Amino acid sequence: MTATPPAHELILIIDDSVIAVRLLSGMIREQASTIFALNGRDGINLARERHPSLILLDVQMQSMDGYAVCREIKADPELKDIAIIFVTGSADSVSEVAALEAGAADFIVKPLNQAVVQARVRTQLQLQGALRALARLARIDVLTGLYNRRYFDEQIEREMARHRRQQLPMALAFIDIDCFKAYNDHYGHLGGDHCLAGIARLIESATHRPGEIVARFGGEEFVVILPYTDLPAAIGYAGHLCQVVRDAAIPHAASSVGPHVTVSIGVVAAVPLATMGARHMLARADMALYSAKSAGRDRVCALPIEPA
Ligand code: GH3
Ligand code: MG
Ligand code: MG
Repeated sequence: MTATPPAHELILIIDDSVIAVRLLSGMIREQASTIFALNGRDGINLARERHPSLILLDVQMQSMDGYAVCREIKADPELKDIAIIFVTGSADSVSEVAALEAGAADFIVKPLNQAVVQARVRTQLQLQGALRALARLARIDVLTGLYNRRYFDEQIEREMARHRRQQLPMALAFIDIDCFKAYNDHYGHLGGDHCLAGIARLIESATHRPGEIVARFGGEEFVVILPYTDLPAAIGYAGHLCQVVRDAAIPHAASSVGPHVTVSIGVVAAVPLATMGARHMLARADMALYSAKSAGRDRVCALPIEPA
C-alpha cells in the first residue's frame, strides 16, 4: 500500500462541525485527498464542482440535514453515482434504514474509530473504482478500442443540445470502408478484423481536437462528431482523413477502387434546430455517404441539413 493517496480519489466531507471535519480528514489522509463543506447547500455545490468519488455526510446538521442532502444528490443525474457514507450519532435500526433508504451506500457510527472509518472508506473506494472500470468498458468497442454505438448515441444527443443552446454549428462525418466484404472474402475474417482496427487507429490519428468523438457505428462504419465545425471545415477534415487512409497503403487485392484500402465519407454540418433530432442528422450523413459511394468511392460528399 502507498502512503500518497491516488490522485483521482477525492472525498468530500460535509459536516457542520469543524472539529469533526478535521478528525475525519485526518483519519483518511492516506486514502484520498479531502475537501469539505460546513453545510449541506455548500456541500452539494462543491460536489457539482469537484465530482468527488465519495461523500462522508453528517446526519445532524443545522439548516439542511444529511437525509435532505442525500436525497437531493441522488435525484441529480450528474451527482447520483457518487457514493455517500452517512456519519451518524444514532446507531439504532430506524436511523440505519432511513440512511439506506435515502440512498446512502453505508454509514459510520460516532464516536469515530479510525480503523472502522478507513475500512468502510476503502470498501467504497474499491467499489467506485470497479464501477468506473465497468462504465468505461460499457462504452468501448472491443475490436477497435473506439467508443461504441451506445456511447455515440448518448453523446450525439448531448452535443446537439449543447450546440443548439449556443447556436453554433457542429458536424458529423460518416465513414465507411470501401469494398470491405471483398476484403473479408480475400483475406479472411481475421484479416478483416485486423484491417478494421488499423483503420480505427488512422481515424484516431487524424482526429485530435478537443471534444471530437470517434466511434465505431457498426460493422465497417465509423462516425466522428466534430464540435464547433461548419461544412467547409468538416469537408477539409474528411478529405484529409481519406488521404491518411490512402497514404497508409494497406493492400486490398480485391478492391474495385485500387490496390489499397480506401474509405468513403459523408459529411453534414448544421446549427441544430429545435426540431432536428440526431436521427435526422445521421440520416443526412448516411445520404451523403451513399452519394460518395455512387460517385465512385474513395471520396467525400457533403450535404447541408434541411429541416425535417
Ligand atoms: P461498399 O464499398 O459499398 O461499402 O461495400 P462493402 O463491401 O464495404 O459493404 P457491405 O455492406 O456489402 O459489406 C460490409 C462487410 O463488412 C460485410 C461484413 O461481413 C463486414 N463486417 C462487418 N463487421 C465486421 C467485423 O467486425 N469484422 C470483419 N472482419 N468484417 C466485418
Ligand atoms: Mg457499410
Ligand atoms: Mg463498406
